Amino acid sequence: MSASIISGTEISKTILSEISKEVETIKASHGKVPGLVTLLVGNSPASRSYVTLKIKTALKLGFHEVQDEQPDDISEDALLALIEKYNQDDAINGILVQLPLPKHIDEDKVLNAIDPDKDVDGFHPINAGRLLIGGNAIKFPPCTPAGIQELIVRSGVETKGAEVVVVGRSNIVGKPIANLMLQKGPGANSTVTIVHTGTKNLDTHCRRADILIVAAGVPDLVKPEWIKPGACVIDVGVNRVGERISPKTGRTNAILKGDVDFEKASEIAGSITPVPGGVGPMTITMLMKNTLKSLKYKLGLL
Ligand code: NAP
Repeated sequence: MSASIISGTEISKTILSEISKEVETIKASHGKVPGLVTLLVGNSPASRSYVTLKIKTALKLGFHEVQDEQPDDISEDALLALIEKYNQDDAINGILVQLPLPKHIDEDKVLNAIDPDKDVDGFHPINAGRLLIGGNAIKFPPCTPAGIQELIVRSGVETKGAEVVVVGRSNIVGKPIANLMLQKGPGANSTVTIVHTGTKNLDTHCRRADILIVAAGVPDLVKPEWIKPGACVIDVGVNRVGERISPKTGRTNAILKGDVDFEKASEIAGSITPVPGGVGPMTITMLMKNTLKSLKYKLGLL
């Protein structure tokens, strides 16, 4: 069997175009556009490149974008004061603090200071609680899990009654995607199992999965023989396994690998996400969707 490829790159383009149309409609009807502030502390090249991509995407969509850069040695109090300033700013619907923060700053304290109604990353404990309650209580699902659910739904995979096995229980991927998939409603209603390093017989659990979501950060952790024939495999893992020089640009690029052996798994699975080009592009897209949602909540459109 040769699996169909679930392209996050393509599905992202479709969702971004839907967002762009909605932005235009709301601008015409209410004279408002979604406002996103990206807060970058310090000068880590990786963080800068992630933020740059978010800024570019927001600008392309016609968002109001505030780029706030702060030095490495900003005090925790000063950063908290900045968050409060954006909490009070009417033109801002979403506050994105690029992680990690420098060691002298308590990340949880900063994330918890964001107004939960502007927490478009969905990491605030109030939004984590809303996710657990489910249904209409969910406002801002964390971006990577929300992107995973979109990939599953938009590729036509049946989720109702499906056995979903999630490998990994992190707060940013494993736990929230498990919560999303067990919600009673469309695009979910699955029977969910979460496995982790304390799990016995990992392979037995994976073999049961109609939808296997792997977010462990261990290259090739999931063996091809652990995959149920015809299953949908979502590989969240992004592992740097080497470097190569691009013949086009002469730049050194990382060689990335997922948590699943893509080539061999493709012969067994029904559908599968590649790495890169699978889950990766969806995270920023869902950040944009959450920022638009935040404006819609404010305008009473949701
Ligand atoms: P994390 O916080 O390190 O959590 C990894 C989880 O996997 C933990 O719950 C861990 O179990 C479990 N695990 C690790 N090794 C295992 C093993 N051998 N058997 C069973 N379970 C195992 O990682 P994360 O932040 O969730 O990220 C996971 C992967 O997804 C990483 O490669 C990351 O780069 C990638 N990621 C990609 C995106 C994106 O594409 N946009 C976004 C986020 C993350 P314990 O809890 O027992 O330790």
